[in-house]
Amino acid sequence: MRRRSFLALAGGFSVCGCAGAVHRLPQIDGGNLSLAQGEVQAAGAPQRRAVSDQEVDETLNAALRRIRPAATQICHEMRVGVCTWQFRVSSDRSLNAHAGPNGLVVVNRGIVEYATNQDEVAMVIAHEIGHQAADHVATGQRNQQVGALVGAVLLGALGAAASYTSGVNVTNSAMRTGADVGAKVGRISYSKEQEREADYIAALILYRSGIDLDKARGFLVTLARATGRKETGMLDSHPAGPERLAGWDQAVAEIRATNGRLPQRA
Ligand SMILES: [Zn+2]
Repeated sequence: MRRRSFLALAGGFSVCGCAGAVHRLPQIDGGNLSLAQGEVQAAGAPQRRAVSDQEVDETLNAALRRIRPAATQICHEMRVGVCTWQFRVSSDRSLNAHAGPNGLVVVNRGIVEYATNQDEVAMVIAHEIGHQAADHVATGQRNQQVGALVGAVLLGALGAAASYTSGVNVTNSAMRTGADVGAKVGRISYSKEQEREADYIAALILYRSGIDLDKARGFLVTLARATGRKETGMLDSHPAGPERLAGWDQAVAEIRATNGRLPQRA
């Protein structure tokens, strides 16, 4: 009996071990979770704003400029992942963003359309940087399914995209590289633990960048509402319910208490 349960446990560990978090993360507390559930239920429907291409670019650039120094520093402190990033904006209007091979970070214009302030946009970029910094892309690729359709859609979106490489003009060859890389991204799926870790690192990046964590948090409410209404492509790649909001709150509490230190390694 005892032996059997040990084996079952060992099996569980070997399944989760391939795609866990790099750091020890705070466990979600029931009190925080029920507060988050109530908050999401009471929140209004997410509102999409009309924004020009120029505003999309400017917002992403400005958000990236604010977080880049702290993000780079944290990535180097972690010493596990990819700290040289390529940023792209996709013309896709769904509420999504993703991290891919070779430091690729793609943010859909839908993120800017639904965001109510720049701090929220900064959080989304910081989350994808978190996946890169913790080397989730390398582990996630093992679960990767490169569908021809997904590749084509992504390629088309990247082809139509402007870049926001923070003051560096993108040449044609860089665009082509982006499209090539995009074709290989497919759908990399991250584990729930990795998603929670990317949020933790995002909160840490924002904290050290002097960005208002409570303002940025608003985007998680938007995502949770959109998920409830099945309006988001973030459903599959980013579980975004009240649980994510509660995880954010606990990460923020810990980060404030430690004055922005990295958590212990798992
Ligand atoms: Zn993610």
